[in-house]
Amino acid sequence: MNEAINDGRVAVCPGSYDPVTNGHLDIIQRAARIFDLVVVGVVDQPLRKQTTLFTAEERRGFLLQETEKLGNVQVEVFDTLLVDFAREHGARSLVKGLRAISDFEYEFEMNQLNRKLAPNIESVYMMASPDYSFLRSSGIKEMATFGADVTDLVPDAVAKALHERLSRVGD
Ligand code: ADP
Repeated sequence: MNEAINDGRVAVCPGSYDPVTNGHLDIIQRAARIFDLVVVGVVDQPLRKQTTLFTAEERRGFLLQETEKLGNVQVEVFDTLLVDFAREHGARSLVKGLRAISDFEYEFEMNQLNRKLAPNIESVYMMASPDYSFLRSSGIKEMATFGADVTDLVPDAVAKALHERLSRVGD
């Protein structure tokens, strides 16, 4: 066990990241400034979403490319209970981003459940940056399908992959 784990300065940032957006990256970067180690947990098969556009390994790959430079961020795919994944990594904090009011109800419910399952793991919420507070992966996929420019909202590699996989414009 390293010192960070003993001191409880490890945080998990969970999500489906299908695909990662600049809004996600903003939260991960901010968490990486506060915690010694941030483990980004990529949900393998999200229950809330029927299917994913990108495989878990593809989603992980985009995240890895963008977070490598931070130096204290790991990216891992998981398919267990979030609190078990957190425990496995010695994390005592779950970091979530909160966008406009829409995220609150869901996060409030998840908070109660996770608190019951693991009372010593604390959920920490960061307000979305104003530039990204209406940004979600599903909206990005919709925009890309109809050929809208998403280059300011996602990393370049993601914009390229979305274009290749989704664009109906010019078909
Ligand atoms: P999405 O709702 O975009 O599919 P995820 O399920 O992958 O996102 O979300 C992972 C985490 O990132 C959640 O805590 C979510 O609230 C947060 N998040 C997603 N988009 C943003 C954003 N634009 N700004 C801040 N936090 C965000």
